[in-house]
Amino acid sequence: MEVNQNIIYRPDLSTLYDDEPSLGHVMIKNLMRVGDKTMLIDGVTNEKVSGKQLVEKSIEIAKALTAVGIKPGNVVSIVSENRLEFAYVMFGTIFLNCTLAPLNHTYSERELEHAFNLSKPKIVFVTSSTKHQVLNVVKKLNFIKKIIFLDNDGNPLEISNANLCDFTNSKTLHNISFVPKRVDTSKATSLIMCSSGTTGFPKGVQLSQSNLIVTIRHTLGHLLTKDNVGDDEIVILGLLPLFHAFGAAIMICVMATGLGTIVVLPKFEEDTFLDCMQKFQCNVVFMVPPLMVFLAKNEIVDRYDISGLKFILCGAAPLSKELEESVKNRLKNPRIVIKQGYGMTELTVGVLTQKDIVKPGSVGDVNFGVYAKVVNENNQTLGPFEQGELCFKGTVLMQGYIGDEQATKATIDEDGWLHTGDIGYFDNDLQFFIVDRIKELIKWKGYQVPPAEIEALLLTHPKIKDCGVIGKPDELAGELPLAFVVRSDESLSEKDIIKFVYKTASPAKRLHGGVIFVNEIPKNPSGKILRRELRDILKQRHVMI
Ligand code: AMP
Repeated sequence: MEVNQNIIYRPDLSTLYDDEPSLGHVMIKNLMRVGDKTMLIDGVTNEKVSGKQLVEKSIEIAKALTAVGIKPGNVVSIVSENRLEFAYVMFGTIFLNCTLAPLNHTYSERELEHAFNLSKPKIVFVTSSTKHQVLNVVKKLNFIKKIIFLDNDGNPLEISNANLCDFTNSKTLHNISFVPKRVDTSKATSLIMCSSGTTGFPKGVQLSQSNLIVTIRHTLGHLLTKDNVGDDEIVILGLLPLFHAFGAAIMICVMATGLGTIVVLPKFEEDTFLDCMQKFQCNVVFMVPPLMVFLAKNEIVDRYDISGLKFILCGAAPLSKELEESVKNRLKNPRIVIKQGYGMTELTVGVLTQKDIVKPGSVGDVNFGVYAKVVNENNQTLGPFEQGELCFKGTVLMQGYIGDEQATKATIDEDGWLHTGDIGYFDNDLQFFIVDRIKELIKWKGYQVPPAEIEALLLTHPKIKDCGVIGKPDELAGELPLAFVVRSDESLSEKDIIKFVYKTASPAKRLHGGVIFVNEIPKNPSGKILRRELRDILKQRHVMI
């Protein structure tokens, strides 16, 4: 690592895959190299897919997309829980140099409409659990031309839509050849992921193929290393949702290197999670803190043999050193390596990871190609142990928010630094520590909850005059969305409000922390909600209780 005037940088000395004509070329080459080795396993059905089969299935999707007129640069969306077909759609889209916009499968119709309007996909892949919401929303949007059903529930389809089987088995596909094409990887957008960033509503984060190629090098050099995993074949439990950048990047990076097998799980269920770990002898798992709480505290864990687990990487929200310690003690496995990483969707997930130096409570040091600094309120760069806002730049920086230059400019300054809205510091060994979050974002079980979105929804209620939403600290979920509400009618109860939000918000955005009625919402002269004051009110109430 290099330090120059308190700017820390880790040069990316490798140029591995930089000369490849596209990310698709990297993926196809490595997956064909591993050939018959199992690369994906459906954790529920036990279906196995080899590297070669994965390429074939993904090429089928690429051809079918071509047949319906999808061209390089077009956007394809998917609203699905984790499943094997998700990977085929993801890779087929990337092979074509198109862009995949994966959306949270628990999104409500309101949330889907907002998200589709960001990326404007031409075609959407759905499952039986998401089709109703998607079909309702699509009626209002003229840019979506086709819906493809990943699973067939036997119901007749509208003429423009199709089941995956019919979509990829059409006779016309035999005449279509597929050859991956060269592209400028720094310009080609591979993913559009939803993130609210530091403020406001969810926006579409554009990640390029080269953002992912650098992340592949990071995965090889810092994550799936012999030091972390040993010499055994790598088997990863793939639980993190593929609609979040953390889950998507792992899927792409691991498959693109052919380094390990991923066991795909649609959702977290205590027994299935542990059963898969045991059955498939998973030795690597990528976690978020609530799952660490489960491993540390739930008695069911003792009923399974998960002694094969060697490496846990935890990210997406703060992990305390106490929790890390209790997981270590609980698993009674002296060989286990637990490391933390820190990042943001806008930074292709990871910018800081614990590597050779592992200090409790730290999120590690900078990854390849990453510049980091800590600044004060006047944007002056700070030195070791001085707390301020973390800022990053480098090859993992997003291309920008789609169609939102203003939000991009508000997040990335003129010198190219992305301001994270997280407060932290680094020590003399250049190890970083996160201490607070000043941006609006709430994180419920690692999922993003943008307060502005819930506030806008609450304000549509005729009996709500004003409101402010914050995160209430919670041991299991990290934070629970909680609303302060000024009501115009005393008959409006907490229950009414919780129900109102429940109806049109996905699970993460519901008011798990409850409602507190107040006479006014503290604001600064320009009308900005003073969330710190709301947090103080919450603390005082707890003291009184
Ligand atoms: P997302 O874009 O959903 O990955 O959310 C990014 C945000 O999650 C960061 O800006 C942080 O506020 C938080 N975050 C991610 N990783 C960590 C971590 N290891 N410790 C504390 N907060 C984290």
